Amino acid sequence: MTPNCLRTAARLVENMNTDADPCEDFYEYACGGWLKNTVLPPEAGRVSSFSAPSAFIVSAMRSLLEATNFESDVEAIQKARAFYKSCLNEVTLDLKGAQPLLDLLQELNGWPVLDDDWSDDSWDLLDTLVKLRMRGNSLLFSMYLTRDDKSSSNYILAFDQAGLGLSSEVYYLSDSYEGIRQAYLNYSVNIAAKLRQDGNRTVALQQMQDMLDFEIKLAEILTPPSERRDPEALYHKMTLADMSGYFDFPWVEFVNRVVGEAVGEEITATEEILVYAPEYLMSLGPLLQQTDNKTVANYIIWRMVRNRVSYMGSEFLAIRDEFNRVVFGTEPSARWTTCVGRTNSIMGTAVSRMYLLRYFEESSKDKAEVMIDYIHDAFLELLDENDWMDEETKVVAAEKADSMRRFVAYDDYIMDNVTRLNQEYEMLRFDEDEYFENYVHYLMATSNNTFSFLRKPVNKDTWITVPTVVNAFYSPSGNSISFPAGILRSPFYDGDYPWYLNFGGIGAVIGHEITHGFDDSGRQFDKNGNLEHWWNQHITDSFKEKAQCMIDQYSNYIDPETGDLKLNVSGRLTAGENIADNGGLKQTFRGYKKWAAANGPEPMLPGLSLTPEQLLFVNFGQTWCAKANQQTAQRLLFTDNHSPGRFRVIGSLSNSRDFAEVFSCPPGSPMNPRLKCTVW
Ligand SMILES: [Zn+2]
Repeated sequence: MTPNCLRTAARLVENMNTDADPCEDFYEYACGGWLKNTVLPPEAGRVSSFSAPSAFIVSAMRSLLEATNFESDVEAIQKARAFYKSCLNEVTLDLKGAQPLLDLLQELNGWPVLDDDWSDDSWDLLDTLVKLRMRGNSLLFSMYLTRDDKSSSNYILAFDQAGLGLSSEVYYLSDSYEGIRQAYLNYSVNIAAKLRQDGNRTVALQQMQDMLDFEIKLAEILTPPSERRDPEALYHKMTLADMSGYFDFPWVEFVNRVVGEAVGEEITATEEILVYAPEYLMSLGPLLQQTDNKTVANYIIWRMVRNRVSYMGSEFLAIRDEFNRVVFGTEPSARWTTCVGRTNSIMGTAVSRMYLLRYFEESSKDKAEVMIDYIHDAFLELLDENDWMDEETKVVAAEKADSMRRFVAYDDYIMDNVTRLNQEYEMLRFDEDEYFENYVHYLMATSNNTFSFLRKPVNKDTWITVPTVVNAFYSPSGNSISFPAGILRSPFYDGDYPWYLNFGGIGAVIGHEITHGFDDSGRQFDKNGNLEHWWNQHITDSFKEKAQCMIDQYSNYIDPETGDLKLNVSGRLTAGENIADNGGLKQTFRGYKKWAAANGPEPMLPGLSLTPEQLLFVNFGQTWCAKANQQTAQRLLFTDNHSPGRFRVIGSLSNSRDFAEVFSCPPGSPMNPRLKCTVW
């Protein structure tokens, strides 16, 4: 019995509620102790099993950013430290007060609510949208560089609907959220009054009310995310000239001014582009026509201002915090946490070099690779047993699974090639006294850098994530799975765990990502990452029927954390993730059985009279323990395409025959219902 073994057993038991019946409510059985012992910290709207590894990485990065003599000869790391310092420099931010933002507003043609002499005649929507987009703000519509879904080796410009200030259209359209709209309005009025020299709230209120009314109309013409899950239905290729048929706007000029310099050539009206939301563009034109320029200007500039408030001094942060209290139910985090997070989000590759050098165990990469092999084989075996797909298509599906690119832990160049690392951040310059300006500079530099890839071929070996992210990914256009170093930590993975716990943790995640290649959206892409029909109608219909079973199943779940509103999970919004959860669980169980058959039995854990197979399910359950405040639980149901943790556990286990057998759950018990949904 090793000390690690004891520690692991103790963690599992502490998080469980062993008095609960695993066949009644496995989430309570696996997570009951965790739920009881976990207090939601005031700065978090939600905590989950991802919180502990994330907190570890953030603390580690703090010490690395502050250890000025570590890797100090790497230029990229020097820049990250300069940015981090500028963020911590609150005294300077307070001294500057509103000035950095006022200067920026000047560059962006002003904000009408601050200027009683603001004139409609001298304002130019095109010019303002160009300048905003170059500083990272996509307003009214978004334009970005993407891989062409039907030709994934090429980049293309894509146009889509833009997001809203309150993250979901529901907040604008539902009577239940009048309070949130009021808080949002107050937020804009407070900021505007603070920036106005006379502090006049009456003028600010009038104009911001118009601004909000306009945004409500935008919410009405947006397509909600649950209705945007079919990539084929979203795909509209056309020329820039064609776009004017949807929305009459100087598109060619807009594109040239935003990307022309970065691309190094003129973009013409015949440029092929993608439009993901033609109906939205069609409605946007008339809406803008009905709205006076002053309101449109107030709206787009407010959204930019709001994005920048978090980079200002304490007087502005206090106004933001008041809003966050009402809308998210949270208090501000410690300054250093925010600063580490922002530094990592803009220079994650540089910062992660330090993390990898100091904290990463190479053996975890090798073990993860072994697990991917087992789970991939399990996927193929299950595919072979599949009773709704014909043999011919199964062969093509197997080819797709075989050609999935694997990205595990980190991209080697981060460790081996400092020159390349430095080059990646070549365009960035940071000043320790200019936090606000540093960030705007970063936004402009990255916008330029991103668009410069337009005419270049897609390099499919490029990582889509930085290593320190506690998450995993599937990319449909790359047909790739990614497991960054960040997720190779407890409770997902631990070098000292018995393999059955790792299979229950990271193993289920590996299976989940593989299955994304075959979920409602991923299935429409072929092995080369191109959106292309490779299923006949009969198979498509069978798939849809099976997926519908899961959509109905999850739609019936009511999230108890949403309080009086008692909101249901959206089975449609979460369909892809649920399909992936269910498939991933099945594959990892099969994968573990094969591993155990090849490697022999492993010891059980002290103090737990559970078999290795039962423990695999317990650790699976524990990777999804989560607790949210009411505001966050509601918001996630509208915006997150993952089901709440509770239903990720209950949903997939109640469909699992392996689980029912391993825990001997009586047929018809809540965790072993007679009707089971299966896709993969
Ligand atoms: Zn997923």
